[in-house]
Amino acid sequence: MATGRIVKAVSGFYYVDSEEGYFQCRGRGLFRKQKIKPLVGDFVRFEAENHTDGYVLEIKERSNELVRPPVANIDQALLIFSAVEPGFSTWLLDRFLVHVENEEIQPVILVSKWDKADEAKKETLRAIQKDYEGIGYPFHFYSTKTGEGIEEAAAYFPEKYSLLSGQSGVGKSSLLNAVAPDLDLETANISGALGRGKHTTRHVEFLRVNNGWVADTPGFSSLDFGSITAEDLDICFPEMRARMPDCKFRGCSHRQEPGCAIRLDVEEGRIPSHRYEHYKQFHEEISSTPRRY
Ligand code: GDP
Ligand code: ZN
Repeated sequence: MATGRIVKAVSGFYYVDSEEGYFQCRGRGLFRKQKIKPLVGDFVRFEAENHTDGYVLEIKERSNELVRPPVANIDQALLIFSAVEPGFSTWLLDRFLVHVENEEIQPVILVSKWDKADEAKKETLRAIQKDYEGIGYPFHFYSTKTGEGIEEAAAYFPEKYSLLSGQSGVGKSSLLNAVAPDLDLETANISGALGRGKHTTRHVEFLRVNNGWVADTPGFSSLDFGSITAEDLDICFPEMRARMPDCKFRGCSHRQEPGCAIRLDVEEGRIPSHRYEHYKQFHEEISSTPRRY
């Protein structure tokens, strides 16, 4: 029996990458006993029948599991935003970050089209960068047109399983072309998968980009808060998570309770006020949305 990782799934076949090679596998009995369906990204035990085919026998415990797109064990989310066209939004970024934090995935914030930003825009964005770096998030500007910052962006690709997330038009395919010029995006179907709807078959696949793997599907295609509860929202804000124990009341929602350490941090500038405002908006949104069970 060998171990490997599912990097692609198409109509009942699971493609397993392993030290022994690349195998087209079917699932067999055992995982049905486990009552879970294999996902792309799963670490599995499999049995090879020959040099190319085999059976998945067991799925190892997952560190995380996304529904849309259906992938497991993601290490990193590359959150792509553009400086302009579409304009940068901390509201959207914070929404992405809540999802990423909830799944315990490491985020990296990459901002494209730096060449198109004027000086005033650059100044605003540099202040925003400082806020997020202060929280502990990597945050880089780059341009695929001038090449500025591409090396730093490329450094986030090796040896990880990544999702590339971001609105259509922010520059996801351009970034992949810039960091992995050998990748044939048309063949690989990634440009289609990343927003231009060329996908004809519904499947998920990880593509080899430098030494890492990137899902050929935009991560977090739904930004509904889903299973995230209002009570747990503060945990998804690392700067709040660190300070929550200092709130006077357990279960403090950090809105009007007296002795709230978070509000004090906001007043005294240790927590960026835009982050806190978004926390309150998301809290309100989750609280007023009927729960789905
Ligand atoms: P995707 O939908 O996220 O995959 O975005 P694309 O990679 O297709 O890029 C959308 C548009 O933005 C294209 O016209 C790109 O040429 C352009 N673009 C992407 N990155 C940059 C950049 O860094 N600078 C400039 N000026 N244009 C960019
Ligand atoms: Zn509080």
